[in-house]
Amino acid sequence: MNANLLQTPIVYLKGVGPNRSETLLSELGIGTYQDLLNLFPNRYIDKTQYLKIAHLQRSNADVQIIGKIVHIKTVEQKKGKRLVATFADDTGQMELVWFRSQKWIRENLKLNTPYVVFGRCNWYNGSFSMPHPEMELLSEHQQGLKISMQPVYPSTEKLAGKGITNRVINKLVQQLFLETKGQFFESLSPPLLQELKLLSKSEAMFNVHFPKNQELLAKARFRLKFEELFYIQLQLISKKLLRKQKIKGYSFDKVGAHFISFYTEHLPFALTEAQKRVLKEIRSDLGSNAQMNRLLQGDVGSGKTIVAVMSMLLAIDNGFQSCLMAPTEILANQHYNGIRELLEGTGVRCALLTGSVKKSVRRPIHEQLENGELQILIGTHALLEDKVRFKNLGLAIVDEQHRFGVAQRSKLWHKNEIPPHVLVMTATPIPRTLAMSLYGDLDISVIDELPPGRKPIKTVHRYDSNRLKVFRFIRDEIKKGRQIYVVYPLIKESEALDYKDLMDGYESIVRDFPLPDYQISIVHGQMKAVDKEYEMQRFVLGETQIMVATTVIEVGVNVPNASVMIIESAERFGLSQLHQLRGRVGRGADQSFCILMTGHKLSTEAKTRLETMVQTHDGFEIAEVDLRLRGPGDLMGTQQSGVLNLKIADIVRDNDILKTARYYALKILKEDPSLEKPENGVIRHTYAQLIKHKNIWNYIS
Ligand code: ADP
Ligand code: MG
Repeated sequence: MNANLLQTPIVYLKGVGPNRSETLLSELGIGTYQDLLNLFPNRYIDKTQYLKIAHLQRSNADVQIIGKIVHIKTVEQKKGKRLVATFADDTGQMELVWFRSQKWIRENLKLNTPYVVFGRCNWYNGSFSMPHPEMELLSEHQQGLKISMQPVYPSTEKLAGKGITNRVINKLVQQLFLETKGQFFESLSPPLLQELKLLSKSEAMFNVHFPKNQELLAKARFRLKFEELFYIQLQLISKKLLRKQKIKGYSFDKVGAHFISFYTEHLPFALTEAQKRVLKEIRSDLGSNAQMNRLLQGDVGSGKTIVAVMSMLLAIDNGFQSCLMAPTEILANQHYNGIRELLEGTGVRCALLTGSVKKSVRRPIHEQLENGELQILIGTHALLEDKVRFKNLGLAIVDEQHRFGVAQRSKLWHKNEIPPHVLVMTATPIPRTLAMSLYGDLDISVIDELPPGRKPIKTVHRYDSNRLKVFRFIRDEIKKGRQIYVVYPLIKESEALDYKDLMDGYESIVRDFPLPDYQISIVHGQMKAVDKEYEMQRFVLGETQIMVATTVIEVGVNVPNASVMIIESAERFGLSQLHQLRGRVGRGADQSFCILMTGHKLSTEAKTRLETMVQTHDGFEIAEVDLRLRGPGDLMGTQQSGVLNLKIADIVRDNDILKTARYYALKILKEDPSLEKPENGVIRHTYAQLIKHKNIWNYIS
């Protein structure tokens, strides 16, 4: 086969032409032969299996059955006539139903003669029925040469409207195989093919489009999924290796006085095993000559802050400054206060810089940063302003909480010639599969253990009709000296409505919990920052017992005395949000509670979310469920979903193939970083081609 044949514009394929080529491009992104070859069927209609009527299941989709028509009648109803045939095999009976062409069918069907029927089976009125089946006499069926598995290609309304039906696509693919003789260059190396017992490229392509049987189809799909994931992993891993090679980092080789005296004299608790392990990983990064680029995942409350602080002490021990950037002012404040407390008596100098820090205070901060007096700077995005210049920033830590904002990260390291080490902390556990695909070029640390002595939060689901009981419970908790959050959803598109819900809720709470016995705070997005801060502060100081809020409290506040989280209209929150909100309580020594309030009408998906919350506290488990429910695109936000536009593999279901692909990509690159060995020639060539033709799944950002 001519090497460039697959790059031929699709318009030249026999049967396409200018009109169709335009539609194929706009609807399916097909511009070349290669693109059409890579249009994989979504599913297949299996005509290799014959089912017995007794073995039909309600979940069966398309089925094929051999039997005879034993009886036929016309049924008249208000909605119109239908033709109903009783169809039987040696195990049972079912109905075949026609709403159209009844006369013709009645005249042509043969009674008591073996037929093969094919179609979708419905469970209706206590028996199975198949509307408008495809029918063929068994005798003819046995003579004909059948395509046993019919591929069903992705389609759109517009495609169908322009006459590009599944049959047409099927024909075009056949034509493509004709013109290319079905011979395609092998794109995986001989050792890989052998070790994994993979089909060759040509065999795989043939069987994915024209499967001979289930077994070959499964093998073909496995091979193609593996290939797709393998090249993505190859790219991510080589990016990572390249970065480690090319981007020099400061080497923090000393573990000095600051770190050691903090560890022995100031650490308020024993580190968990997970914290120790992560610190070791970070230390080893910081001690190498390459820039650290590490993602630290740890559930809310898992103790990431102390890891951040101790990493910053390492920087100080080696003569460098550090900064810690938080997504909101509230959180930056809290970090500042918490860290100052931790560092009391250590002599480490740190400062806070946010948008609301006054000019008169900023100036000395700027000065002390430049002359190196300040060792730690904590703040918000204000840290990224040009005026903020460090003497020698060695470590930048970003606390992203539940965000996935990868973009900001790069800005921080433009501040020096040699970039600082970067640690990104996130409280939203990212399922491993997703992390491997999205952040495969980063190093990842996980704190998978909570500090000891925490009582698991009791989580329950209550209907709105039980509100009085819930209020009684709140009253009891307040009597015990506890504080309560009540959170309302705020979804952008319906902001006005949500705002009204919040205010109604607030008023009803004020009515049930009147002054002077009860003090209530309210915080929402339409308030000024100072007012928010004021209300928040009152709650933090324990002056108010109930905090009514929209999700603004999600990223912030640590109030150990708050022991109840009530989430209103909980069915409207996503799983990760629910999990984040719940993490606001359970920070003190007392038993904490999370109450999910909903109406009675719930979608299946909402029920699954609520059940998951009631059943587990494990952030990773919750993230996996979330991924299954919503799919990777939604989970990651639209801007990154393109990354996961896989052609054949499925990031959720093909977890094991992904792991295998990553394993081999890593192994190959470790042994042969620039793919120079002869046996890796195929891989080097394919990889170069993929990048050249931007066919690597628009993956390069
Ligand atoms: P997050 O990972 O959510 O940022 P924090 O760092 O705020 O968690 O820690 C949550 C709470 O747990 C803090 O009050 C912190 O002091 C405490 N903590 C952290 N590590 C430990 C530990 N090893 N033992 C006991 N308490 C700890
Ligand atoms: Mg935190």
